[in-house]
Amino acid sequence: MKLQKIMLDGGFTCPNRDGRVGQGGCSFCLCESFNPEYCRKHATITEQIEAGKKFFEGKYPQMKYLAYFQAYSSTYAPLEVLRQRYDEALAVEDVVGLVVATRPDCIDDDVLALLASIRERGYSVAIELGCETFYDRTLARVNRGHTSRQSMDAIHLCHRYAIPVTVHLMFGLPGESRDDILAEAEILNALPVASLKIHQLQILRGTRMAREWEEKKEDFLAFTLDTYAQLVADFAQRLRSDIHIERFASSAPRGMLISPRFGVKQSVVEARIRALMDKS
Ligand code: SF4
Repeated sequence: MKLQKIMLDGGFTCPNRDGRVGQGGCSFCLCESFNPEYCRKHATITEQIEAGKKFFEGKYPQMKYLAYFQAYSSTYAPLEVLRQRYDEALAVEDVVGLVVATRPDCIDDDVLALLASIRERGYSVAIELGCETFYDRTLARVNRGHTSRQSMDAIHLCHRYAIPVTVHLMFGLPGESRDDILAEAEILNALPVASLKIHQLQILRGTRMAREWEEKKEDFLAFTLDTYAQLVADFAQRLRSDIHIERFASSAPRGMLISPRFGVKQSVVEARIRALMDKS
């Protein structure tokens, strides 16, 4: 049986935008880049999943779906609201589980107890945690609004509830060298992490990061396809062998992206990285 994630906008917000932690959000964030076409902002969760099922229809025989609450911080709401939104997704036919993307400071015992109770009902449940970097100086510089200690604590807490965690890391944040990034493999190796999603920092039009990049390009690694692919391959080589890498790179819509422009499809970037990983 094949599982397909269907991206959803669950109507959540983010504590780094609504003022609880900060305002204006992370300097690289452009919320419009979150959602695919089938995930219309004002559609209900059920409507979004039905549209997603239509979009992926016929991709594999006997497909089942994971409701992927991807936009903003999808554990950031009162518990009853979370329960109702997750349950709405799980009530759609052929949805067999949840993937919930969130920030380290939006994880606590109550949220995890709710997710664990959903798992006990027989559903698959996983968390995607936006850590982005484990350097506090960088977290402060990009206005992330949480610390690396909070990331580590959240990962350990998820592990205590037996909820698998996929960590998101961003390569190329300002002020970080290639060696700084490679050293993060050791940090991850010491944590109970199930998998990892890596992506290159993408400078998007209209963000504060775009202004910073214009003013201080020397603070950013200028990735080419080859230098980025080699960095990911070298990182993977340092990573504990049971940490599965789910994603190697991402691609914002062309009109939004300023840099880096690899000039090839995402599949070509991934193929280049895999070829280097096979060699090493
Ligand atoms: S935590 Fe996520 S949604 Fe919130 S500002 Fe940062 S990137 Fe955007």
